[in-house]
Amino acid sequence: MTGTLEVLEPATEAVLEEVPRAGVEETDAAVARARAALPPWRAMAPADRARLLHRLADALESEREQLAVLEARNAGKPIGDARGEMGMVVDTFRYYAGAPERLLGDTIPVAGGVAMTFREPLGVVGLIVPWNFPLTIAAWKLAPALAAGNTVVLKPAELTPLTALRFEQIALEAGVPEGVVGVVAGPGRSCGQRLVEHPHVAKVAFTGSTEVGRGIAAGAASTIKRVTLELGGKSANVVFADADIERAAAAALPAAFGNAGQDCCARSRILVERSAMEDFLAALEPHVNALRVGDPLDESTEMGPLISAGQRESVASYLEDGAPVAMRGSAPDGPGYWFPPTVLAPVEREARAAAEEIFGPIACVMPFDGEADAVALANDTIYGLSGSVWTRDGARALRVARAIETGVLSINSNTSVRVATPFGGFKQSGVGRELGPHALDHYSELKSVYYATDE
Ligand code: NAD
Repeated sequence: MTGTLEVLEPATEAVLEEVPRAGVEETDAAVARARAALPPWRAMAPADRARLLHRLADALESEREQLAVLEARNAGKPIGDARGEMGMVVDTFRYYAGAPERLLGDTIPVAGGVAMTFREPLGVVGLIVPWNFPLTIAAWKLAPALAAGNTVVLKPAELTPLTALRFEQIALEAGVPEGVVGVVAGPGRSCGQRLVEHPHVAKVAFTGSTEVGRGIAAGAASTIKRVTLELGGKSANVVFADADIERAAAAALPAAFGNAGQDCCARSRILVERSAMEDFLAALEPHVNALRVGDPLDESTEMGPLISAGQRESVASYLEDGAPVAMRGSAPDGPGYWFPPTVLAPVEREARAAAEEIFGPIACVMPFDGEADAVALANDTIYGLSGSVWTRDGARALRVARAIETGVLSINSNTSVRVATPFGGFKQSGVGRELGPHALDHYSELKSVYYATDE
């Protein structure tokens, strides 16, 4: 171990816990343990592996409240949101607990014999996750990877390692064999990079920034590692004039400011048909002013602090570029990395705030003129992760939903993520899909076997 990691509480700036800081050596040791644990884990009867994953889900469920409090304090998120996230963690393990017995292959008619396909595990999989939804995003990778017969080494973000470290213990207590799940809490440049380069790691599943994702894709090339990437976003929330403007405005708020805007799915570009602009802004303002920003452990809190001083500085820099501040909610004074919910309107298409992922509670409202302009503006980004369309015209809703280049889209709703549906990005928002049945394809290799039957 190379010293300790001081884990802070963003709402108070105080040290919440100190944990040993892992480095390259610990990462290599975790990979070696995962490699040793692989043969019995992949050979385990599918029903037994399924039972273990159910037991793990039960153990997580019985510790849901403690995990939620830990996540709320460490990531600075409202306790109600943290409880919801831990519910999703449990649901994700339950969903994939059904998978070991359903990893089906095909039989394929060919001449002279029988061809069949099998889904084989990849081996040791490295999981690298960010700080915004620490255990939730880890669970999206852990559950399908384990269900498909892989062993894993998880690297949480340095700022938020606590629920991942607790998860490692819970897995052991639930009966998951030693070595099947390893956690290395350390820097990206040592632990993360080592997982990417390690010759005995078959795949890296990464969630984080597009910038780091580019480096991971490049680093994985030398060993032809499998890679899935869930990266940044700058999603559009498209509101047509014929929509229920009150509902769209109320829903725009959590979609932009949920998790203090530190959400890859944040619909941070609110595109409003010009004729409805005035009504939309008037409907939005009371919600912004009423948003309760404060102590994450207070049951009534709707938005917490940002994750760090550096993140607050980066977010604040987007106010320096001259886009008009149309609304500003309130936030506590320090200590804590607070930032008030802020709406910029109208924002020019060329503005930096309109192009870059801010990853904080700043939303840009931009006018458009008609359907073609709405689609062009929504697609005017390097990203393509989520998005929404609000209209009462069903045919238009589907036309626009199909035309927007994005991995996830909702109509008359701002939701992005469900355990049973695929999640992932178009363009520079990523490669591959998580959740739903398709995630299992990314944690297994397809093998064809031919059995000659001709005499
Ligand atoms: P980040 O890219 O800085 O870090 C993510 C993880 O990668 C951390 O664990 C970090 O330690 C590790 N890392 C950093 N450098 C590395 C390297 N050289 N090699 C290997 N690992 C390295 O991202 P962040 O600041 O923690 O999270 C915010 C970003 O994550 C945002 O851009 C956000 O959009 C994105 N995100 C995407 C999704 C999605 O599903 N698409 C979900 C959540 C967050």
